[in-house]
Amino acid sequence: MSATPEPASPAHDQHAAALSPATLAVAAGRPPRVQGGPVNPPVVLSSTYVSQGEVPAGEHFYARAGTETWHPFEEALGALERSAHPALVFGSGMAAIAAAMSLVPAGGRIVLPRHAYNVATSYAQDLGRRSQVALTLVDVADTDAVLAAVRGGQGQAPASMLWIESPTNPMLEVADVPALIRGAHEAGALVAVDNTFATPLGQRPLTWGADVVVHSVTKYLSGHSDVVLGAALADDPALHALLRGYRTLHGAIAGPSEVWLALRGLRTLALRVERSQANACELARRLAEHPAVVAVRHPSLPDDVGHERAAAQMDGFGSIVGIRPAGGAAAADAVVAAVRLWVPATSLGGVESSLERRRRFPGEPVTVPEDLLRLSVGIEDVEDLWADLSGALDDAAGMTAPSAATS
Ligand code: PLP
Repeated sequence: MSATPEPASPAHDQHAAALSPATLAVAAGRPPRVQGGPVNPPVVLSSTYVSQGEVPAGEHFYARAGTETWHPFEEALGALERSAHPALVFGSGMAAIAAAMSLVPAGGRIVLPRHAYNVATSYAQDLGRRSQVALTLVDVADTDAVLAAVRGGQGQAPASMLWIESPTNPMLEVADVPALIRGAHEAGALVAVDNTFATPLGQRPLTWGADVVVHSVTKYLSGHSDVVLGAALADDPALHALLRGYRTLHGAIAGPSEVWLALRGLRTLALRVERSQANACELARRLAEHPAVVAVRHPSLPDDVGHERAAAQMDGFGSIVGIRPAGGAAAADAVVAAVRLWVPATSLGGVESSLERRRRFPGEPVTVPEDLLRLSVGIEDVEDLWADLSGALDDAAGMTAPSAATS
C-alpha cells in the first residue's frame, strides 16, 4: 500500500476554499472517492514501514516521523484554519506549545498574556530559568501596552515572539488580535496564537497574518474528553518545516487511534460549538441577574469589556463563562460540590458541562480571583444546566430554606 503522506482529499483546492467551516469539518480529510472504498480513513497501526535504500521525501519509513492516520485530521484542521499547509498533530496541546516556543532563539524574549493558560506560562518560565529566553507578561487586552512590551526599548531588545490567547484562559480577556499581529510584525516579532478557546469556527488567526496557531485538540476539536492531543499550524514553509522537525526530533507525537478519534469528533464541531455557545450565552445572561453571583464574564454580555472586540473579530462568543459566586472561594467550592449534572473537573470543550475553581491550582496566577469558577458549557439542555447550577448557587449562598425532612 502506498505510504504517501499527501492529504487524502483535496481540502486546499478552489472548491474547498469556497466551503464554509461547518462543511469543511464534515467533508475535509475523507479518503479518495473510489467504488467500494470506505468513507472514513482506516487506522493504521504500524510503527515502521517496508523501506530500504534512500527514503524519498514524503515517503513513510517510521511512524515517529509520520503515519497516514494523522493526515486526514491534519488536512481537515488545515482547511478549517485556512492554512496553506495541513496542520501538524502533536501528542498534546503542550507539545504543540513547546514546539511553537522552540521558534524563539536562545537569548530571545517572549511577550505572553499574564492570564495565558497557566501551563504555557510555566513552560515559558521554565525556559527562562534555563536562561534560554526572557519573558514579559502583559495584559493582552491592552493593545498599546502589549506592543510597547514587544518593541522593548531602554536597553531591552525587541521581543522575538508575541504569544496571544484570546479569549484568555480563564479570565476571558479579549485581545485585538489583528492589531497585535500587525504591530508585532512591525517590531519584527513572530506571532503565535493559541486558538483553543475560539476554535477555527470562531476565528482564523492565520488569515490575519499570525505565524503560528496552536490548539489543544483535547478540547473542542475532539470534543468528547476522551483524548489528549495538540496541533500546530504555520503558513510559512520554513516555519512549518521547523515545527515538523521539532515534532520528529522530540518525539512529541500522537497515537494513530487518538487522532482517528479526534477526526471523528471534529466532524460534529460546528453542531457542538453552535449549541454550547448558545447555551453559554443564555446561561451568562441569567447568571448576570442571579443574586448569588457577584460577577460574570462572557464576551456575549453587552456590558462585558471584551464584547465589542469579540463581536467585531469573532464568529460567536465561545462557550466558557467565568463567574464569582457571592461568598468567596468557600462558596465557589460549595457550588462545585453541590452540582449534580455539571461535572467537577478540569479541562473544557467536551460535550458535557464542567466547572472548576481555577485557583485550586497553585500554578494559577494570583491575579486570577480566588473565587473564580470557570464554566465549560456543554451541549445539554440549557434548562437542565440552569436548574442544576442555579440550585447549587442558591445552596452555596444559603438561600435555600432548610429541608423539612428530619432523617
Ligand atoms: N491551551 C489552552 C488554552 C488550554 O486550555 C490547554 C489545556 O487546558 C492547553 C493549551 C494545553 O493542552 P493539553 O492539555 O492538550 O496539553
